[in-house]
Amino acid sequence: MSHIASRLAAVKPSASMAVSQAAKDLAATGVDVIDLGLGEPDFPAPEHITRAAFEAASRERMLYTASLGTPELRKAIAAKFKLENGLEFAIDEITVANGAKQIIFNALMATMEEGDEAILPTPYFVSYPEMVKLFGGVPVTPACPAEVGFRLTPDVLESAITPRTRWLFLNMPGNPSGAVYNEEQLKALGAVLEKHPQVLVLSDEIYEHIIFDGRKFVSFGAACPALRDRTLIVNGMSKAYAMTGWRVGYAAGPKDLIKAMATIQSQSCTSVSQPAQIAARAALEGSQDDVGTFRAAFERRRDLVVAGIAKISSLTLDPPEGAFYAYIGCAGVIGAKTPSGQTLEDDVAVAKYLLDEGHVAAVPGTAYGLSPFFRISTATSEQVLSEAVARIGAAVAKLSF
Ligand code: PMP
Repeated sequence: MSHIASRLAAVKPSASMAVSQAAKDLAATGVDVIDLGLGEPDFPAPEHITRAAFEAASRERMLYTASLGTPELRKAIAAKFKLENGLEFAIDEITVANGAKQIIFNALMATMEEGDEAILPTPYFVSYPEMVKLFGGVPVTPACPAEVGFRLTPDVLESAITPRTRWLFLNMPGNPSGAVYNEEQLKALGAVLEKHPQVLVLSDEIYEHIIFDGRKFVSFGAACPALRDRTLIVNGMSKAYAMTGWRVGYAAGPKDLIKAMATIQSQSCTSVSQPAQIAARAALEGSQDDVGTFRAAFERRRDLVVAGIAKISSLTLDPPEGAFYAYIGCAGVIGAKTPSGQTLEDDVAVAKYLLDEGHVAAVPGTAYGLSPFFRISTATSEQVLSEAVARIGAAVAKLSF
């Protein structure tokens, strides 16, 4: 007899974590594996950020804080939204959690009734559908293919909405695609949403600062002010400040939703750890120079990967517009035979082949709901990325068509 709750039956563990585990297992046998599975900046967090937390913790007691987050951090977040996004939020419209992931978890727990639908433009971040299912919801996954820049279009949105739609998730720049929406594209989606007052919008803007080719980031909140009372803007420290392990995410949205999310938090983790909140405040209020340096490094890596993949005739990659992934189309190798005589039936087989033959760990597109693709993370050095692209090219060259 299982002791595990039935609501977990449909929930899968993270696919990118699973790929990393497979890479680690292979590496443990002595193979030199390049793991491009996980999306984690490879830079250390800037020194002034870690020092702020360290000094505070050495000087004073670290205690529970308000569940919403310390007022000082929420003020810093409000100032960030005003300065960077042109948005005004009071501090009771802002909450802090252990990563953007916990923000999303709290938001869904606060709002989802059994059978409610969440529209997840596909490809989507792996955790979205699993969290939706955890709360009895139904993921609705309209395909947003490479031909439309992996972006949700107004007509596809309109046809995905039903009376049961509770949420539309947007993620820009997108994981895994890197897709960015401009102001006009967001306004066009907003115009559809204005006709459907039952739909809340979760705009996951965690890759805001990792955006390329001089594009200007436009928050959904800034593009669609008429939807302010049903928009939750999600962001966090992990990507922009290389602070994944500090676990600080935040959100701004309608006061009643923020209050409900804080209630959940007060009965679960109480608050985010105080040193982490001190570090986050130092990050937001301090010099932003490192953010720009990281961004420039990610753009050079993107260029290197795009140029390298362009030389492999059976793979496709339009330049990602932001974030630190390349979502590589592999339709051209589906059906090909490996040197050991196996046929590559799908992108899971392609990713397995790249790991076994090329010793490069990539995540198959099935994990993100759109196939056939595989995702590599570009959050590693140019030297490692060059080697990885060379290995992928060599592995593909061994296939017979
Ligand atoms: N949203 C997206 C789109 C992500 O890619 C990630 C991290 N991979 C997260 C949220 C979670 O970020 P955090 O570390 O703040 O929980």
